[in-house]
Amino acid sequence: MKTSATKPAASRPSRASRSRGPSARELIFGDLWEFDPAPETADPYIRSSYGLFINGKFSPARKGGSFPSISPGNEKKLTDLALADAADVDAAYSAASKAYEKVWSKLPGNERGKFLYRIARLLQDRAREFAVAESLDGGKPIKESRDFDVPTAAAHFFYHAGWADKLDHLAPGRQVAPYGVVGQVIPWNFPLLMLAWKIAPALAAGNCIVIKPAETTSITALKLCEVFQEAGLPPGVVNVVTGAGETGAAVMSHPLASKVAFTGSTEVGKAIMRSLAGTGKKMTMELGGKAANIVFEDAPLGQAVEGIINGIFFNQGHVCCAGSRLLVQESIADDMLTRLKLRMQSLRVGDPLDKNTDIGAINSKEQLTRISELVKSGVAEGAELYQTPCRLPSKGFYFPPSIFSKVTQSHRIAREEIFGPVLSILTFRTPEEAIEKANNTAYGLSAGVWTDKGSRILKMASQLKAGVVWANTYNKFDPASPFGGYKESGFGREGGRQGLLDYCKLL
Ligand code: NDP
Repeated sequence: MKTSATKPAASRPSRASRSRGPSARELIFGDLWEFDPAPETADPYIRSSYGLFINGKFSPARKGGSFPSISPGNEKKLTDLALADAADVDAAYSAASKAYEKVWSKLPGNERGKFLYRIARLLQDRAREFAVAESLDGGKPIKESRDFDVPTAAAHFFYHAGWADKLDHLAPGRQVAPYGVVGQVIPWNFPLLMLAWKIAPALAAGNCIVIKPAETTSITALKLCEVFQEAGLPPGVVNVVTGAGETGAAVMSHPLASKVAFTGSTEVGKAIMRSLAGTGKKMTMELGGKAANIVFEDAPLGQAVEGIINGIFFNQGHVCCAGSRLLVQESIADDMLTRLKLRMQSLRVGDPLDKNTDIGAINSKEQLTRISELVKSGVAEGAELYQTPCRLPSKGFYFPPSIFSKVTQSHRIAREEIFGPVLSILTFRTPEEAIEKANNTAYGLSAGVWTDKGSRILKMASQLKAGVVWANTYNKFDPASPFGGYKESGFGREGGRQGLLDYCKLL
C-alpha cells in the first residue's frame, strides 16, 4: 500500500471534513490511500467457445448460432456461447426424459446423494478457478465470489446430498415422489449460486433437469457441466441450454416439464405464469424485491452501519433481497446519514479481480443504463443524492456507491427495484409508521430490523410482509434456511426442507 502523493488534492476529502462525523478517530482510507493492485491470478480455464450441454456432452446449436460473452469489468470478450433454439431445447428435454426413465428414477437416494457429494467436493477442489471465472463473467468482486458464491454453492450440494436418502422424513406421514423432468431459468446476479439453488434440490428429490442460465453469465454453468462429467453424473440428468429470453420461454413452456422454477424479474415471472395458466404445471417463482432495512434509535449504530452498507452494496446491489430502502428513526437520521457517508468513503470501486475491491462492475451496459436512469429520476423528483468521489475505471461498466436522502414514498427510487448500488433513505417516528412504510410496496421478499429490544424484533417480524426478516444482521444465507417471497416477489421456497418439498409431489 502506498500514499497517493500524485493525486489531485481536489478529489480528497478535506481534513475538516475528515474530522467531522460521529468519531474523529475514524480512519478514512477511501481517497487518502492508493492500494497497490492485488489481482487474483488463478487461471479461470475459460474455453474459447462452449456448446450446449445436452445428454452429457457439449455440442453446437443445431442451427449453429452463437453469441459472445463479455466481461463487464473491462468489456473484453471472454468466449462464444451456443444459442439454443426451440429444437435444441426439445433435444435437451428428450435427453432429460430418457435419463429420468432409464437411470435416475431407478437409483436409490443414497446413490443420488453420492453424485451430489462428488459435485460438491469437485467444486471445492476447483473453487479458485470458479471464483475467478465468476468475477470475470459477472463483474462481482473476487472476495465475494471467493468467500461467498462458490463456497455457498458447494454448501448447497452438500446439504442436499444429505437429504437424498432421507426423503421419507421430508413430509411426516406422507410419501413423496419426484416430478420427473423440471425446467429452470435463472438470472445473472448469482450465476453459480442460483444454479446450485436450483439443481441441488431437484437432483436430491430425484428429478432430471433442463436449465437456462442468464445470457450475460453462462460461463460458470458450463464449467459446472465439466464437473458433472468429472463426477460421472449419468448423461441427460442435467442439461444446460444457453441463449436469451426466447430460449428461456422455450424451457418454461416445454410440454415435458412437469414443474418449472424461475428466478428473475417480476415482469418476466408474470409473463411465464400467464403462458402456463391452465397447463397444470407446478411452478416456483423467485422474483424481485424492494426490502426495507429498519433502524431504530436504540440499535447498535456502528453495527447497523455495516449491515446497511452490506445490505445495499453487496454484489453492486444486484441482489433481489438488497436492503434498498433504509427506514431510519427520525431522531437518529442525521447521525446515520453522516456515519453512512463516512463509511462509504472507504469503499473501493474497481477491477472485480482485485482483492481490495469492495464494489465491482455493473453486470451489463443495459443494467448500467437502467440504474443511471433511475438515479436521474430520484434527483429530478427532489431527493438529495450523495455519491462517493471515487474514480471509476475507464473501461467497463461501473457506478459509484450512491445514497439518496429526503426520499418520499412516492419517488420512483422508493418504489422501483433499482438492482444497483443505490440506497434510498426514508424516516419514521413510531414502530407503526415503520411497519406501514415497510409494507407499502408491491414486493414482499425480505426486510431487516435493527434494535436493542428482542420483543420489538418479534413484533416487527410478525407484522412485516416479507418472506425473510433479518434481525440485527443482513444478507445472511444458509442452505438449511428457506428463502422466498410473497406478494409480487413470488411464491415457493428455495433451501431447507420447504425448498426441497417444492421439488416433490406429495403422494
Ligand atoms: P429477467 O427476468 O429479465 O431474466 C431472468 C432470466 O429469465 C434470464 O435467464 C433471462 O434470459 C430469462 N428470460 C427473459 N425473458 C424470458 C421469458 N420471456 N421467458 C423465460 N425466460 C426469460 O431478470 P434479470 O435477469 O434482469 O434479473 C434481475 C431480476 O431478477 C431482478 O428483478 C431480481 O430481483 C430478480 N431476482 C430475484 C431473485 C429471487 O430469489 N427472488 C434472485 C435473483 C434475481 P436473458 O438473461 O437472456 O435475458
